[in-house]
Amino acid sequence: MRKFENYCEVVFDARSENESFARIVVAGFVVHLDPRLEELNELKTAVSEAVTNAIIHAYDNKGGTIKMTIGISKGEGWPEVTVTITDYGKGIPDVQKAREIFYTTRSDEERSGMGFTLMEAFSDELYVHSEPKKGTTVTIIKRFPIGKIDDE
Ligand code: ATP
Ligand code: MG
Repeated sequence: MRKFENYCEVVFDARSENESFARIVVAGFVVHLDPRLEELNELKTAVSEAVTNAIIHAYDNKGGTIKMTIGISKGEGWPEVTVTITDYGKGIPDVQKAREIFYTTRSDEERSGMGFTLMEAFSDELYVHSEPKKGTTVTIIKRFPIGKIDDE
C-alpha cells in the first residue's frame, strides 16, 4: 500500500443526503493544498458519482454502509489525492461493461449511464474492483497542479 503523508477514513450511511457530506469532506481534507477550483470541483464530482452509485445501485436505495478513504501524497511533483469509495452491496458482474459510456442497468429511471465516464474524465487514474454479492471499491486518483499553472 502506498504511504500517504496525510490520510483519513470516514464511514457513513448510504443515504442520498450523505452525497453532499462526502463532497464536503473531500474538499475539506484537500483544501490545505490550495487547489484550483477546477480540479477541486472535478474531484468532488467524481466522488459524488461513486457515492451515488453505491447508494442507488449497490444498495438499491435501501441503505447500507459506505467507507471513504482519502490519502494525500506530496512526493516530488504535484500533490496526488487518492480517494476510495467502498460499498458492501451487490457488486458489479461485468465492470468493463459497466464502465462503458451510456451503459446503465436503470434506463427506466433518470439514469443516463454517464457516471463512470465522468469519473474517468475527472480523474487521472480510475480503478474499479468489484465482487458480486461482496461489494465494490472505486479508486479515484487525481493530481493537483498548484503553483505552476496560471489561472486562465
Ligand atoms: P448515471 O451515473 O448517469 O446516473 P448510472 O449510474 O446507471 O447512470 P454509471 O454510474 O456509469 O451509470 O454506472 C453504470 C452501471 O454500473 C450502473 O447502471 C450499475 O448497473 C453499475 N454500478 C455502478 N456502480 C455500482 C455499485 N457501486 N454497485 C453495483 N452496481 C454498480
Ligand atoms: Mg451512476
